[in-house]
Amino acid sequence: MSILLTGGLGYIGSHTAVELLEAGERVVVVDNLSNSKKEVADKIKEIVKGKVDFDKQFSLYIGDVRDEKLLSKIFEKEKIESVVHFAGLKAVGESCKIPLEYYKNNIDSTLVLLDVMKKFDVKNLVFSSSATVYGRAKSMPIYEDFPTSATNPYGKTKLFIENILMDLYESDKTWNIVLLRYFNPIGAHDSGLIGEDPNGIPNNLMPYISRVASGKLECLSIFGNDYPTKDGTGVRDYIHVVDLANGHLCAIKKLRTNCGLKIYNLGTGVGYSVLDIVNAFNEVCGGKVKYKFVERRPGDIDVCYACADKAFKEMGWKAKRDLKNMCQTSYNFEMKNKK
Ligand code: NAD
Ligand code: UDP
Repeated sequence: MSILLTGGLGYIGSHTAVELLEAGERVVVVDNLSNSKKEVADKIKEIVKGKVDFDKQFSLYIGDVRDEKLLSKIFEKEKIESVVHFAGLKAVGESCKIPLEYYKNNIDSTLVLLDVMKKFDVKNLVFSSSATVYGRAKSMPIYEDFPTSATNPYGKTKLFIENILMDLYESDKTWNIVLLRYFNPIGAHDSGLIGEDPNGIPNNLMPYISRVASGKLECLSIFGNDYPTKDGTGVRDYIHVVDLANGHLCAIKKLRTNCGLKIYNLGTGVGYSVLDIVNAFNEVCGGKVKYKFVERRPGDIDVCYACADKAFKEMGWKAKRDLKNMCQTSYNFEMKNKK
């Protein structure tokens, strides 16, 4: 049996593919390359070389999840046991500029996927959700039963999809669905072969810092130093992408227990400020990250961190890697892939 990863060549999907392959699972990827490159599959192969029979354990389909014919072909050909649905557009700012693209891509791909899964009687799904569905939480840490809301089209797609999945489950309790709400994934694989490589100027903190450290960008702008936090800069729950990838392995195991619908935060439970991240990165790279303070970024919240106890209690999952490792692996990936 195989696990289908939609968007499996992307940042989180590629790390998850490695962890699944190394755990002995068979992996099928479908990706339309809208935010990734085909060569990522070669990198995955290189990482698992010697440990895994890659040609037997891995299949790749280049195409869109909204292409029902392609998806049906994949389900006919491969014995799919469960699906991890990563595919989607994910940039908050861009989603405000081209909302229809976000609704079309994220919602339609999910609906087509669910239809095809139903047709082939495959009812096990892990969905990539986000801490963004908590909106401005009333207190910290954030628990899974906190109210949800969304302030931008990207966040709304995540919330709508969660609701679609909840309705589906209510209508048919033979589905097993795990909603994973990721906090802030950073870091890269130890090999330096895969990591986060956004096109153009990065929106997110870690890829921006990495490019300042490698000399591709001049200086980091820190958005606001007047938040009610220990040093005035925003606080987030940064989680190593390899830890996050392992969370998917645990979620797949959870599905196999016929778990019904479950929701888990994937975070560390610890909040770090932007200055904490810059200082930790500077220790790793020898102080190359210059920064300046600028205005707050519209829409940003001051503090956001998870309570991740439920994932530990119910799936045995816990983040293991520390901030230094997150910075080291990000820097290593940046320097190895400097163009
Ligand atoms: P990513 O952009 O690196 O990966 C997404 C992959 O999906 C890309 O390879 C892209 O080419 C592919 N894709 C997009 N639309 C597709 C479609 N219609 N058909 C086929 N392939 C398609 O993003 P990521 O950081 O790996 O995120 C994966 C998922 O996790 C996304 O759903 C994202 O919203 C969610 N998420 C990410 C973060 C984060 O900070 N990275 C945080 C919370 C949630
Ligand atoms: N941030 C920053 N400069 C940047 C990018 C981000 O100061 O160039 C800050 C941002 O204000 C927030 C934190 O870094 O406090 C994390 O931002 P990111 O965009 O990575 O994640 P998100 O806002 O989705 O939590």
